[in-house]
Amino acid sequence: MSKQVDRLMDFLQKSRSLVVITGAGISTKAGIPDFRSSSGIYRQGGVNETLFHIDYFRDHPDEFYKTFGPLYEQITSAQPTYAHRFLKRLEELGRLKMIITQNIDGLHHKAGSANVIEIHGHLRQWDCLSCRASYGTEGWIDEKVKKGETPLCQGCGGILKPHVVFFGEYVMGLEKAMQFVQTADLLMVLGSSLVVYPVAGLPGYRDENAHFVILNKEATPLDDEADVVIHEDIDETLQKLGFL
Ligand code: NAD
Repeated sequence: MSKQVDRLMDFLQKSRSLVVITGAGISTKAGIPDFRSSSGIYRQGGVNETLFHIDYFRDHPDEFYKTFGPLYEQITSAQPTYAHRFLKRLEELGRLKMIITQNIDGLHHKAGSANVIEIHGHLRQWDCLSCRASYGTEGWIDEKVKKGETPLCQGCGGILKPHVVFFGEYVMGLEKAMQFVQTADLLMVLGSSLVVYPVAGLPGYRDENAHFVILNKEATPLDDEADVVIHEDIDETLQKLGFL
C-alpha cells in the first residue's frame, strides 16, 4: 500500500467521529456522469449550467424535461458503488456520523445509509410550483419524466418540479451539515471538485485538530490543506482498505 493509503487507514481506524462529504465523483462508477471532469455532462454538449437554473426551469419546463428525461432514466436505474457500500458499512460500525452529499441520485439511500444530508435534494419527491402540493415518485410521474414529458399536478395542473436544488435556490440542511463538520475528528471528501458553493466551503468549518482527506481523480482547490490527497479512482482506493 502507498504511504497515503496507509495514512488513510490509520486515520480511519482511530476516528470515532467521521463525517464524509460526497460529490458526483462517487457515482460515476454507477454510470452517472459528473458535471465538470473530462467525461462530465458539461463536456458532452447539450447540457450546461443554464439547464439547472431555477429561472430556466420556470420559463422552459418542457425543454428542461426533454433534456432531463434520459438523465433521469440513467440516475434512477443506477446501483450503489463500492464506495457507497463502504460508507454504509462504516455507519454500521458506528464510526461514520454523517454523509453530506451534493448528489441528487439517492445512491446513499439505496445503499442503506441512514445518516445522510442531501444538500441539493433528491428525486423521491415532486413539488407543484403553483399550489405547493407534494408527491412521492408515483408510477405516472416516473413514466412521464422518463419519456421527457412535463409532469403536472393532479390537483391544480401546475408544473411539478423535482425536489432538487437548482442554481439560484437555497440548499437544504446547510446548518446541520456545518454542525456535523465541526464535530468531526476526520473529514473526508469523496469525488467532489470542491468548486460548487456552499458545499465547497464546508471543510473550512472543521476543527483545527481534525484530519482532512480528499479522494478525487482531479486536483481540487483544497488539496494543499489536506493531510491525505489521493488522485485516483475512489473505489480502487477504498478497496485497498478492505473494510467490506
Ligand atoms: P463535479 O462534477 O464538479 O466534480 C466531480 C469530481 O469527481 C471531479 O473533480 C472528478 O475528477 C471526480 N471524479 C469523477 N469520477 C471519479 C472517480 N471514479 N474517482 C475519483 N474521483 C472522481 O461534481 P460536484 O463537485 O459533486 O458538483 C457538481 C454538482 O452537480 C453538484 O452540485 C451535484 O448536485 C450535481 N451533480 C450530481 C450528480 C449525481 O447526483 N450523481 C451528478 C452530476 C452532477
